[in-house]
Amino acid sequence: MIPASFEYHRPGSLQEALQLLQTYGGEASVLAGGHSLLPSMKLRLARPGRIIDIGRLAELNYIREEGNAIAIGALTTHHEIATWDLVVNELPFLAEAAAAIGDVQVRNKGTIGGSLAHADPAADYPAAVLAGNAEIVVQGAGGSRKIAAADFFVDLFTTSLQPGELITEIRFPKLSGKTGSAYLKFPHPASRFAVVGCAAVVTVDGGTIQEARVALTGVASTAYRAKAVEDALKGQSTDPATVEQAVEKATEGVDVMSDHFASSEYRAHLARVYARRALLKAIERA
Ligand SMILES: Cc1cc2nc3c(=O)[nH]c(=O)nc-3n(C[C@H](O)[C@H](O)[C@H](O)COP(=O)(O)OP(=O)(O)OC[C@H]3O[C@@H](n4cnc5c(N)ncnc54)[C@H](O)[C@@H]3O)c2cc1C
Repeated sequence: MIPASFEYHRPGSLQEALQLLQTYGGEASVLAGGHSLLPSMKLRLARPGRIIDIGRLAELNYIREEGNAIAIGALTTHHEIATWDLVVNELPFLAEAAAAIGDVQVRNKGTIGGSLAHADPAADYPAAVLAGNAEIVVQGAGGSRKIAAADFFVDLFTTSLQPGELITEIRFPKLSGKTGSAYLKFPHPASRFAVVGCAAVVTVDGGTIQEARVALTGVASTAYRAKAVEDALKGQSTDPATVEQAVEKATEGVDVMSDHFASSEYRAHLARVYARRALLKAIERA
């Protein structure tokens, strides 16, 4: 449980961190909250020659309203996201996803940027950023770019981040007054990671669903939007029977994972159950 030796760097600014990444390239790993990277290093699954510790860069730790969006700095912790009034009031599904992560220690140290970059298939935020239509702002030597959440998760532990790029911010569009949202998960009893988790964001007008965004995590190699469920709900009534029927399509077109915690059949069942529960909660709040 002792990591291989490495050189430690603690940049004083984002610019310095980007320069260090440029200089050391693939030899270096960025350290944020350390709650995924350090366990991997202790198990020697990761052996970076250099650590660039961005964990204390205050310029990447914030939650603020910017016009029609809520902007969250990459180093904002799970605990801050779970408890910040602006998130709790404007993006309840995101606060719920953050509150459901791990335990107090993990929530106090782990960051949203680190979790998204790590892209664990059982992590909670991926479902939230997908259902929330968020953008992931990244910065590298060539400047800054925004990646739509839908384009960010490529495969198991793989994202569209390019070498030398850092996540700096996550931007969520605010929800309209007629939109309700929820995040619910079936947690693994030991780690609390999502065996299955579902984020739902639903806009209702006069008892009719105008738009439903449903994203599932834990089910496949990456979190995904359950488009078939969304299409089945659009223009329909909020009647629970309609929802029950729509969630039958929760894993349509998806290669459902199977492991010693949950068979693919059981995961698919949980996907339907949690999609239904999250949708009904979101509808109730709309
Ligand atoms: C016991 C335990 C239980 C957990 N339970 C859950 C759970 O229930 N749900 C859940 O979702 N997660 C869970 N986690 C994971 C936790 O949320 C981690 O905090 C998170 O995955 C990683 O965030 P971090 O800030 O700790 O990143 P780090 O561990 O510091 O880094 C993780 C990876 O991301 C890279 N990275 C970090 N920041 C950036 C950045 N800004 N830009 C680019 N790359 C970056 C690092 O180089 C590294 O490759 C658990 C972890 C533990 C140890």
